[in-house]
Amino acid sequence: MSKRVVVISDVHSNLEALERVLEDVEEESPDLVICCGDVVGYGPRPSECLELVRDVADVVVKGNHDHATVTGDISMFNVAAGIAVEWTRRRLSDEEIEYLASLPETETVEVDGVRVFVVHGSPRDPIWEYVFPETPRGVLKEMVEVAGKPDVLLMGHTHVPMREEVDGTLVANPGSVGQPRDGDPRAAYAVLEVEDGEVRGWEVRRVAYNVDRTAREIMEVGLPEELGARLYRGV
Ligand code: ZN
Repeated sequence: MSKRVVVISDVHSNLEALERVLEDVEEESPDLVICCGDVVGYGPRPSECLELVRDVADVVVKGNHDHATVTGDISMFNVAAGIAVEWTRRRLSDEEIEYLASLPETETVEVDGVRVFVVHGSPRDPIWEYVFPETPRGVLKEMVEVAGKPDVLLMGHTHVPMREEVDGTLVANPGSVGQPRDGDPRAAYAVLEVEDGEVRGWEVRRVAYNVDRTAREIMEVGLPEELGARLYRGV
């Protein structure tokens, strides 16, 4: 019997999207749930998303928005993202901030003999570096080496699904639950299937959710309107 790993990333305080994804995931009855970071930032429901992710995910790593929410340093962000970080910081309890601070930057788990390395950005720069589908192959090879040549290298951060085979390692990104940027506004997540030390499958799923509700809440709580508008376009 193969084991199924659900991979979510970049929820970004979008509760509508997360709830729809988790409904879908439930039917999957996964053996493990992995979150590649950025539970908060951009969206209007940080506490609710944190609670759900803490409840459902076995592995969670720290994203750049999680990190900035802890430190308050928004120098790396554009104006709207920075406003959202500061808003999120005010909104979360001390305990929730402590939880974000406690998240590891990388994590390695073994599932049915398959070694999975999990990071938000990249193995050589876990919080900040972007690895896109078009990132040169030589760079991907270096990433795989820095990660210790795992069977699977999971990354988030770009909000763009990715799947590459590099020196026998599956290099993959599930896309974003709460703010997709590949032109498809539906929430994204992925299912990794493994069996007996072998990767059997990697499938990105898309789930439609109520974008109107999230966009409206973004306005209601006083976050920048553009953070809602982009959700309709998936950018
Ligand atoms: Zn993100």
